[in-house]
Amino acid sequence: MNIILFGPPGAGKGTQADNLIKNFNLYKVSTGDLLREEVKKNSVLGKKIKTIIDKGEFVPDDIINNFIDKILSNKIFYNRLVFDGYPRNLLQAEYLKNLISKHNQKISCVLYLNVNKEILLKRILGRQTCNNCGVIFNEYFNPSTSENHSCDPVYLKKRPDDNEETVIDRYDTYLNKTLPILNFYKKLKLLYEINGDAEINQIYKEIQGIIASLET
Ligand SMILES: [Zn+2]
Repeated sequence: MNIILFGPPGAGKGTQADNLIKNFNLYKVSTGDLLREEVKKNSVLGKKIKTIIDKGEFVPDDIINNFIDKILSNKIFYNRLVFDGYPRNLLQAEYLKNLISKHNQKISCVLYLNVNKEILLKRILGRQTCNNCGVIFNEYFNPSTSENHSCDPVYLKKRPDDNEETVIDRYDTYLNKTLPILNFYKKLKLLYEINGDAEINQIYKEIQGIIASLET
């Protein structure tokens, strides 16, 4: 079973990917992790990637696609992948389709965590981390109170890059880039839309239901 997870930043893809990996014995393909690992190796490719990232540019498709090719040709991962953050554009989606058939595998489903924009903004903008104990709160959904948190409220901090403008910008970029991909998978009848506004456990239940329906 190969699964593609889709959703805007802040939709909780990481959590759901972890659930899938644990319960179905799968491996996560995160292009971000792959790139970081290569940089750490300090290889020729790693150095090239580092230069690109340091400049704030996107790593070209051919480098990313090569990583994916390598993973798909590894027998250990045969039909056992969860893609998180890939494909990121239509070209990558088309490339992945070809790679998957080249390696005699298939995409079982594409799970799209669709989150209401307002909820998404609140999830991201409301996030507060306590610098004293490390616990994460959300001022809208899970605020720090005297009952659930004993530290002084001065320790509650927001991430500096989580300002409204940046978040909206990230969301719009995401929408523009991913809509064509979603349509691509819809045509292939692989797309399953999930209500990403629901609770984490509820979302996972829905995912389990979809997977169960695939296996019968
Ligand atoms: Zn605290």
